[in-house]
Amino acid sequence: LTERLQNAMTKLRRKGKISETDLKEVMREIRLALLEADVNFTVVKEFVKVVRERAIGSEVLDSLTSSQQIVKIVNEELTKVMGETAVPLNKSPKIPTIIMMVGLQGAGKTTTAGKLALKLKKEENARPLMIAADVYRPAAIDQLQVLGRDLEIPVFELGTKVNPVEIVRQGLAQAAENKNDYIIIDTAGRLQIDENLMDELAQIKALAAPNEILLTVDSMTGQSAVDVAKGFNEQLDVTGIVLTKLDGDTRGGAALSIRSVTGKPIKFIGQGEKMTDLDVFYPDRMASRILGMGDMLTLIEKAQQDFDEKESAKMAEKFQENTFDFNDFLSQMDQLQNMGPMEDIMKMIPGMANNPAMKNVKMDPKDIDHMRATVYSMTPQERENPDVLNPSRRRRIAAGAGRPIVEVNRMIKQFGEMKKMMKKMNSGNFEGMEGMLGK
Ligand code: GDP
Ligand code: MG
Repeated sequence: LTERLQNAMTKLRRKGKISETDLKEVMREIRLALLEADVNFTVVKEFVKVVRERAIGSEVLDSLTSSQQIVKIVNEELTKVMGETAVPLNKSPKIPTIIMMVGLQGAGKTTTAGKLALKLKKEENARPLMIAADVYRPAAIDQLQVLGRDLEIPVFELGTKVNPVEIVRQGLAQAAENKNDYIIIDTAGRLQIDENLMDELAQIKALAAPNEILLTVDSMTGQSAVDVAKGFNEQLDVTGIVLTKLDGDTRGGAALSIRSVTGKPIKFIGQGEKMTDLDVFYPDRMASRILGMGDMLTLIEKAQQDFDEKESAKMAEKFQENTFDFNDFLSQMDQLQNMGPMEDIMKMIPGMANNPAMKNVKMDPKDIDHMRATVYSMTPQERENPDVLNPSRRRRIAAGAGRPIVEVNRMIKQFGEMKKMMKKMNSGNFEGMEGMLGK
């Protein structure tokens, strides 16, 4: 999905001005990209219609920045399709909050139960209890117990001989006694939806009256994930969806269709097998990801035009290894100057526009000259290893550059912050970052 859409978007951006024929072609590409990615047909039809109407309605055609505007419309509509804003976990006004995991076999229920319990424990200091109510797969109870042991979260189980509804009844009683604030019920799945399973789940639901029924769906199963979601939702009226395995090579279609088809919010996404790999679902971030980092793509293009290729590759490596130093900073500043105002560039990086750390970043060409003077006043050793910059060295540098000491301090601090930011981006969320300078 991503690749095809990105190509369409890239083509579009190159154009600037676009004609009605261009728009038609772009819409065709978008439609194909979505269909190829297993996005539900009705969803695609509606999506394309809305984007087209908005594009025409806003008189994008023939206006100067029209291609950018279409990209923006596509981004906004993608976000809308996926639910607009993040939807938090339903919580009970008084303890316990009861969460029931449902879904097909192998979707990731047990794993997600563990991840969620850990998240609650870490973020809210909660004391969850997990109930092992999958008695059909012999290893299922063991699996939950092992997770519980590793995470230091208690697991209630009665083996495989007791009826799951009875297990839940006793588990709830134990949780009441121990005053657990969250109860996470791990239920059984099947390879496909069947009546017996649904009956059992309906009974557990009736007994436990969960605040949240989280339908766990394997995003790698494409269109069938959406059908499954529809089926479960019709039978159990789920309250939220967890999309798992988004770290894999998924076509991403599930994320796009599932909300419109079920009308239920995606609340979390699983992005790996580790217990910490569970994230709150943000529709806008997913839209950016699908579109190839949203404005990031613009940024990459801008960077590609203006950056010396070899230089950029070297820089990307430095970011990644976190060996970025003041020498690099200097050559970066030279390069960046050709790209336009720094603030504008930073704003294009997803998550940066509203980042409080960016508030104070204001750079005019004079500032850049001052910074350059400051870096020139450093010894080679200081440039390579800013950690050695103690107060007396800073005073010397300030005098050498003819700048006030507070300014030198501020710059060193900003440099440190920038490095930290780069490190954060490299370590996870913004996979596109190295591409920005690399490619
Ligand atoms: P259940 O049958 O629904 O309880 O599914 P499990 O929790 O046992 O998960 C099935 C498999 O999927 C296990 O091997 C998990 O490690 C794996 N898994 C679950 N969630 C994720 C995820 O977000 N990413 C990846 N890569 N693997 C996952
Ligand atoms: Mg399981």
